[in-house]
Amino acid sequence: TQATLDNIQATDPEINAFLHVNADEALAQAEKIDQAGIADDQPLAGIPMALKDNLVTKNIPTTAASKILANFKPVYDATVVEKLAHANMISVGKTNLDEFAMGSSTENSAFKTTKNAWDHTKVPGGSSGGSAAAVAAGMVPASLGSDTGGSIRQPAAFNGVVGMKPTYGRVSRWGLIAFASSLDQIGPMTRSVKDNAMMLSAIAGHDDHDLTSSDKAVPNFAADLNAATSVKGMRIGLPKEFLAEGVSDDVKNAILAAADTYRKLGATVDEVSLPHNQYGVAAYYIIASSEASSNLQRFDGIRYGFRADDVKNLEDVYVKSRSEGFGDEVKRRIMLGTFSLSAGFYDAYFVKAAKVRTVILNDFKAILKDHDFILGPVAPTTAFGIGAKISDPVTMYMNDILTIPVNLAGLPGLSLPAGFSNGLPIGMQLIGRPFDESTLYKAGYAFE
Ligand code: GLN
Repeated sequence: TQATLDNIQATDPEINAFLHVNADEALAQAEKIDQAGIADDQPLAGIPMALKDNLVTKNIPTTAASKILANFKPVYDATVVEKLAHANMISVGKTNLDEFAMGSSTENSAFKTTKNAWDHTKVPGGSSGGSAAAVAAGMVPASLGSDTGGSIRQPAAFNGVVGMKPTYGRVSRWGLIAFASSLDQIGPMTRSVKDNAMMLSAIAGHDDHDLTSSDKAVPNFAADLNAATSVKGMRIGLPKEFLAEGVSDDVKNAILAAADTYRKLGATVDEVSLPHNQYGVAAYYIIASSEASSNLQRFDGIRYGFRADDVKNLEDVYVKSRSEGFGDEVKRRIMLGTFSLSAGFYDAYFVKAAKVRTVILNDFKAILKDHDFILGPVAPTTAFGIGAKISDPVTMYMNDILTIPVNLAGLPGLSLPAGFSNGLPIGMQLIGRPFDESTLYKAGYAFE
């Protein structure tokens, strides 16, 4: 833990992955573990990790990278934080993100700009850019992120690490500062598939505090991974829309090469189709923004964090605190969401988007009926330049065209390194049946 803290001190001034480092708490926990000793059934004990700063941590600052939560110290730990503490993993700090997890580059943070670990002129992706860069730069071996439309998988891809967006309901969202509750999932970001599998087993499972968390048994995902792990006989679907226009040649070639590798390992790869994939981004921005506009109502200047001064009355507290506390992208989503939910437009926008969501889910179901998993890219390109897309929200939104449909369908998605282009990592995505993260880990392990 001390070595990790030293390393963060040496490396992070350049990368800016961390918003807060809790050295004292981490060292105290490490000391306790040293004294108690490590039990055989505690494979993660004593291993340092980092938490995306939208996971609440008792008495430790939690900001969601928003000015409106500056100086906010929660009074409880998120369920995943509690579970990792039980596994005796040591949280060393909180990582940077796009404000309230809204973004694809971490540039929407109110506090700092995180750099891609491989090229400091490029974005780390987002919104879990800090968690990805911290792992990729070797500061911590593992971290947690959250994924509403790609926020674990895309930064994992941009930084060459492994990221899992579990099935909706696999992991409790209690203590995750809500963005879009029907889409949000927490998941691990690690350097290897096996580390990732171990961590998911530690954080998954039913939780009475989150009634959307499933009571399905949680497998020991890592136990299935060994030298004999194989994809022999598996059927893989490669959607033609995932290699269509907009996906750069280097990314396409890496995915085709991965398909070849799987063929050599004894799997069959078929061309399949997700005919409604192109409507995913539009439906997502209606659904996610609607849910966000509702979830963010609680930030009123009274209950948490920042309160504007120089106010005349109660309404003024709300208006000024929210106007000064939220950044531009968050305001954009609140306006879009409030509009979509308003009485006159609800059927035309929200209900329509919900229908599109079902159509997209049915496309996936049709493929997964006779395929073990779907293979494709994570993002259409490798990491883009800092500043390149920040002034054009729609271009930024389109970066998530290959990850968003997976959240709409609630399916598990694993992002893992599939090569390099011009010194930047390329990510590939494996999409599975509900609650079948096991197959994704097996296939990821066989490839790795
Ligand atoms: N980039 C997407 C958005 O801005 C997804 C973010 C996420 O998964 N949290 O909403």
